Amino acid sequence: MKFGIDIGHNCPPDTGARGIKFEDNLTLDVGNRVISKLRALGNEVITCKPDGAGSVRDSLSKRCSRANASGVDVFVSIHFNAFNGQANGTEVFATSDRGRKIAKPVLDEIIKLGFFNRGVKSGSHLYVLKNTDMPAILIECCFIDSKKDMNLFNAEAMANAIIKGLTGKVASTPVKPVPDEEDNIDTSALRLQKALNRLKITDQNNKPLAEDNDAGPSTKSAVEKFQSIVGIQPTGTATEATWNAINLILAKRIIRPNHAGGSVVRYLQYRLNVEADGIFGAQTEAAIKQFQRQNGLTADGIVGPATWQKLIG
Ligand SMILES: [Zn+2]
Repeated sequence: MKFGIDIGHNCPPDTGARGIKFEDNLTLDVGNRVISKLRALGNEVITCKPDGAGSVRDSLSKRCSRANASGVDVFVSIHFNAFNGQANGTEVFATSDRGRKIAKPVLDEIIKLGFFNRGVKSGSHLYVLKNTDMPAILIECCFIDSKKDMNLFNAEAMANAIIKGLTGKVASTPVKPVPDEEDNIDTSALRLQKALNRLKITDQNNKPLAEDNDAGPSTKSAVEKFQSIVGIQPTGTATEATWNAINLILAKRIIRPNHAGGSVVRYLQYRLNVEADGIFGAQTEAAIKQFQRQNGLTADGIVGPATWQKLIG
């Protein structure tokens, strides 16, 4: 299928309504999701919103021309309503019977999210429905000046409902990559204290650190201890090298005998009471196996997710 997706407004002087939220922002958010989800499902999408326009009429006219010139099968305009703060719910406009057949399942899916059903309505007063050559619908997703609707509204859920209504298919939500601690850029005192506590590095009195975001003497002493353990000059100041070592350990890479070295291995040796030489040799492997047996894990000598879990949570 070839869809013409029209992200409402966002083309000054054609700007949307303002309520608790701005229509421009919401149509853009939902519209972009709809476009990428339709494409992910194998559809062709023509984006109909122009980059610029001299007037509102020009903006609307360009949207229709693009859809007509591209010969899209279905035209979908995405909008949000605003009225008096009390009105709420979803309505979908269409002009033709074929348009109504497309509008109905879209409305039904959005209603499932909890919005009030205002029905499929005749949209012969709407410029983009009147001036497009193909079956066309205009979705008023919900009311941006309704507290009820804005509490209920979620852009991802709205986009998924529109996709289900248009295609009958369930859209996939993009999988967020698992955050990798090695790339964590937070170098606050609070994160430092939390990290050192997690790594079981105590202060000068062998006490866990207070997580108070104040890098005072006890935090400094723990940093110094950590630096000695991993083989960094012990200054008590969390330098870039210090953070690199902390983040690398927190990233919980799989550590194998004869492969790994450096700060992570030194840290493991500290935890296992092995002489700290930074090389994962036979002695370290034996200590890992013993630790694994003591903790009910498979004693394979490889520091994988389960072993890391027991070590640093
Ligand atoms: Zn609008």
